[in-house]
Amino acid sequence: MATVRRHLRRTKTGKKVVVTRHRRKTKPKNPVPTIRKDERRIFNHLSNPRIYKKEYGGHIDFNKKGQIEEIEVIPGQMYGVDLYDSDFEALYHTHPSKYKNSPPSPDDIIALITSKNQQAELIFRDGIIFAIIKTPKTKVLEKMSRKELEKMITHWFDPDDEKTVQQELEELGFVVIRSKKDTKPIKLPGVKIVE
Ligand SMILES: [Zn+2]
Repeated sequence: MATVRRHLRRTKTGKKVVVTRHRRKTKPKNPVPTIRKDERRIFNHLSNPRIYKKEYGGHIDFNKKGQIEEIEVIPGQMYGVDLYDSDFEALYHTHPSKYKNSPPSPDDIIALITSKNQQAELIFRDGIIFAIIKTPKTKVLEKMSRKELEKMITHWFDPDDEKTVQQELEELGFVVIRSKKDTKPIKLPGVKIVE
């Protein structure tokens, strides 16, 4: 919690007024939440299908500087992990798949749309990330029913084609980050830090 620093200043008329001191003249920009290179190794490890046969998942909490404050690790099953809707910025889960393609499933996409406070879903498969970030454009999807969402997504969903899934998600207004280089930091633009 940021505390507001206040002090009293006497005006020429002698009236006391409270002014709020700002440390900076300009408001600091919203820092972009970032998973550092070394932190990325945690997810690379958890999503290594040669080590783990089940999914892991949980929330990633960022501090106001955009750095990771907490990573939750909940073990799931081979095909799924139960995560709770919360007000954390982002949730992640792994796909312990040895196949080249393992895009976010229709259920993964629907879960992100229907959990109102969640801004991003990160899916790791053997160190490769597929992140989906909500934008103001995707807000309208929240008005659709689960049935309507299912119908729309299954229309173009292809479990063997991450590229198409990415393009369709971008068409809907999502920002998608797919990074094959598992040593690079991951930036999540547009994700606002909640405190
Ligand atoms: Zn999934």
